[in-house]
Amino acid sequence: MELFEHTISQLHEQLKKRQISSLDITESLLKRIDQLDGILHTYITITPEGARKQAKEADQRVGTGQISPLTGIPLAVKDNISIVNTPTTCGSRILKNYIPPYDATVIQILRKEGAVFLGKTNMDEFAMGSSTENSFIGPTRNPWNRDYVAGGSSGGSATAVTASLCIAALGSDTGGSIRQPASHCGVVGLKPTYGLVSRFGLVAFASSLDQIGPITKDVRDCAMLLQAICGFDQHDSTSINTSVPHYMANLNKGIKGLKVGIPKEYFIEGTDKEVIETVESAIASLGSQGAELIHVSLPHTEYAIATYYIIAPSEASSNLARYDGVRYGLRSEDTDDLESMYTMTRAQGFGPEVMRRIMLGTYALSKGYYDAFFKKASQVRTLMINDFRQAFSKCHVLVTPVAPTPAFKIGEKIDDPLTMYLSDIFTVSPSLAGIPCISVPYGMSSNGLPIGVQIMGNYFDELTLIQAANVLEKTSDTSHHRPPF
Ligand code: GLN
Repeated sequence: MELFEHTISQLHEQLKKRQISSLDITESLLKRIDQLDGILHTYITITPEGARKQAKEADQRVGTGQISPLTGIPLAVKDNISIVNTPTTCGSRILKNYIPPYDATVIQILRKEGAVFLGKTNMDEFAMGSSTENSFIGPTRNPWNRDYVAGGSSGGSATAVTASLCIAALGSDTGGSIRQPASHCGVVGLKPTYGLVSRFGLVAFASSLDQIGPITKDVRDCAMLLQAICGFDQHDSTSINTSVPHYMANLNKGIKGLKVGIPKEYFIEGTDKEVIETVESAIASLGSQGAELIHVSLPHTEYAIATYYIIAPSEASSNLARYDGVRYGLRSEDTDDLESMYTMTRAQGFGPEVMRRIMLGTYALSKGYYDAFFKKASQVRTLMINDFRQAFSKCHVLVTPVAPTPAFKIGEKIDDPLTMYLSDIFTVSPSLAGIPCISVPYGMSSNGLPIGVQIMGNYFDELTLIQAANVLEKTSDTSHHRPPF
């Protein structure tokens, strides 16, 4: 097995015993990136010099016996997470030349642990999308079949993990952007409880929904990376100060007595048959391993897409007002007064989906429409939170599909925004509620594409998600298959 194929936990063991060096791992990945990135379009920026320097520092550190789980491990970072002195484009022309002067909190933490950063991964512009087609560098390709999307918006991170162009990656999830690409690529992705992981240094899309989370080859790695990045941060006003359990130490505790809820609104017509079968067999597997299966209802699920696509664009329209040609990135040259400089910069800098969202959001927040749209959506959001509270009074986790279909073809949905939005139907509700969810690979479609299963948990109960996912991983079908790369 080549070094680039290993997991964090495997490499950590070998690094600890000094059987390998971080520089060896890093070189093996840089070579792999060199061979495959041109085909898969995984990275927007690759930072080989920085990575080699960090790897050497990690090796010195290991030499003095100071090793933490991420020391010397090469990671990929979604391009909306700030790394000091490294371009952070958010997949947008408007930030093409933007270089942040500081590290995001998650990067500061990982840097302290001695992690290695290989580069910044491709994504839908400002994380708006479900396919990574809305990127100014073009779409990322699914390693299982290059004609298919990788999912989005963290498609670059998911592909990098799947095709071994990094050991593990960070993504961000506002309405499914970690879970859905993880599912489409056959890797593990976790969206933490809102407030568990600091958003400081994450470029804001919809601030009441955004969370950074791990995308990894297996559940163990997911636990290791989450453990590293979570925790209170005074630089994020929505960060929550709560004690965090030791995920790794409790990983193998099993699921005896676990009450698994099956929400009927997530098994609906229009969902691909193979997706339903995959989720049903995952539920059966949990049942046969000691879980109690309970049928529950989340009655306001039918409003999820409408609610999300008012709240997220509204927040985005406000957050993206800062890109005006004055403070960040691109400035249009074709203007002679201030107002046209603003408008031309934005017209030239933003892609069509981002413009659509800014218009939707501005409309929903404007005088005369605010009550009918934003306020109403916020009220429905509260009803959806109450649905989850009700459900979690009867069970510990909920098991559902991640997306209604496996990965779709590049180009298939890009001209039909509503169809694209509908592919988020199973991921946006838990985002609106702020609860944690994990996507774990479980099945394969007849045309050879992975299918993930989503497990949702109660607030700050990531541990139960990880334990259940760990059990599922052992009976999954996907693990017997390898992507062609
Ligand atoms: N696909 C959803 C959207 O386009 C979610 C994106 C995300 O989670 N960043 O808004």
